[in-house]
Amino acid sequence: MSDSHETPSSNFIRQMIAEDLASNRHAGRVQTRFPPEPNGYLHIGHAKSICLNFGIAAENGGQCNLRFDDTNPAKESQEFVDAIKDNIQWLGFNWSGEVRYSSSYFDSLYDFAVQLIGKGLAYVCDLSADEAREYRGTLTDPGRNSPNRDRSIEENLELFSRMRAGDFPDGEKSLRAKIDMASPNINMRDPVLYRIRHIHHHQTGDAWCIYPTYDYTHCISDAIECITHSLCTLEFEDHRPLYDWILNNLDIDSIKRVSDMAETELPYVLPKQTEFAKLKLNYTVVGKRKLKQLVDEGLVSGWDDPRLSTLAGMRRRGYTAAALRNFCESVGVARSESQVDLGMLEHALREDLDANAPRAMCVLRPLKVTLTNLPEAMELSLQNHPKKEEMGRRAVPLTQEIVIDRDDFREEAEPGFKRLVSGGEVRLRGAYVIRCDEVLHDESGEVVELRCSADLETLGKNPEGRKVKGVIHWVSATDGVQIEVRLYDRLFTVENPEAKDVEDFTSLLNPESLQVIRGCMVEPAAVQVDSAPSFQFEREGYFTRDTVDSDERTLVFNQTIGLRASH
Ligand code: ATP
Ligand code: MG
Repeated sequence: MSDSHETPSSNFIRQMIAEDLASNRHAGRVQTRFPPEPNGYLHIGHAKSICLNFGIAAENGGQCNLRFDDTNPAKESQEFVDAIKDNIQWLGFNWSGEVRYSSSYFDSLYDFAVQLIGKGLAYVCDLSADEAREYRGTLTDPGRNSPNRDRSIEENLELFSRMRAGDFPDGEKSLRAKIDMASPNINMRDPVLYRIRHIHHHQTGDAWCIYPTYDYTHCISDAIECITHSLCTLEFEDHRPLYDWILNNLDIDSIKRVSDMAETELPYVLPKQTEFAKLKLNYTVVGKRKLKQLVDEGLVSGWDDPRLSTLAGMRRRGYTAAALRNFCESVGVARSESQVDLGMLEHALREDLDANAPRAMCVLRPLKVTLTNLPEAMELSLQNHPKKEEMGRRAVPLTQEIVIDRDDFREEAEPGFKRLVSGGEVRLRGAYVIRCDEVLHDESGEVVELRCSADLETLGKNPEGRKVKGVIHWVSATDGVQIEVRLYDRLFTVENPEAKDVEDFTSLLNPESLQVIRGCMVEPAAVQVDSAPSFQFEREGYFTRDTVDSDERTLVFNQTIGLRASH
């Protein structure tokens, strides 16, 4: 579906890049990266980061890498790697060259660690995780030096190589940077660079039993890939001094030797980390840990549950990539955190679907109507989009038996009710004006059928001598197709389920977030093999076929969103 893009508005990152280009800081290059950890599915927050990283590179003639930040194999898997790649392409972006993995730099990272040890800037520490925490101090108290801080370079080299060789069990030793245990920034208090973990890795198999930490890995991976601008979220602001410390203490020539620019004459300039605010949305949870909990506890059907803020879920629900991109652009990029109203996302979605989704008719709660005077079945030709003739027309069968929505009929006239009442008239969308002549009930008194006559002079014309206000949708009972429809509401009952004072966010799930309606009737055009990905079912909202639960016997449609905001 097409973009309706305005000119991108300025933000502090666009400004910074313009300045760096003007001063030729990176030899005119813009190289960004999107660095997901493959420990879950991407969510709407990641979409913001993706749009920013890929967008800013493209705007400036640059490139964006996709790099899996895979240093914690215990929580990562190939399933997540595959889903992430798929989601990024679906959003409409292409990464530069091959997919990259931090784990493919493990050899270089190891060599750089040896380099730091050789410079007296890293040491092997014997403190257990608990002891190390205690030695680290607090925000108000400085930390204490590890008893192993002054190990000789030789001993450190020897121990580090034995760590790699698998001589020690998990947790018995770690490699730490030697910086400053009294630093006001806790990240600088001799942070861990390597941990021992005898565990299989989804990319490197059993080659390693020591794994580098995120902080140590990220900056070096950025440098190896010759990233110019390393954009990340605000929680890494306090890690920036460490990012710079590590890179500044490595021998720049040795980085250049393993980097993407090894073969070029371009000046080598270290990457610069810049932080921006995370995207938060109300009435939902954005954050892999919480999403994973919902999935693992079976509170939703999976990572692609259409109620989730995952890209897989939103895609299945019928969100379009263009709507998400437009939303991310309209949210903007800032340095202060704020919660964005779900309504803004829904607005972007409606705008895109209204412009691009063909119309069709679907009756959610069918009530049988017999058109007693229709001489024969006929085929009407209806425009697919009221404002876009170029979207073509479709054939809509009108037969003697049709269905209308139960909600569009009342036995007794009520003030303000403009649809069909007993003895009254209404127009069938795109077809005739009909009059309800007779109402049939079953033994319990429920209405089971209406017998109506059509005014055969009213196709594309107003009836003579009277006004008929109401227009309702309908579907042929004999040529229509039965489908199941799933309607969605907000996943949570409160605006901020992620608030700090919430003890158990799962207790705030909206029990009515999913409503399943079976036996709905849709016109045949909407279920043809080559039909559009999304439809506006007239008067009901936007719908898309569910790709997971539809099968030959039951077609399932998800309501992407209603026609207008209902909250
Ligand atoms: P989560 O908090 O959901 O676990 P994460 O930050 O741990 O996310 P990563 O896979 O490490 O997930 O993130 C990849 C990139 O996406 C990082 O650069 C991260 O800063 C960015 N990102 C993650 N969440 C958001 C968000 N809500 N808004 C904007 N960017 C985000
Ligand atoms: Mg993370």
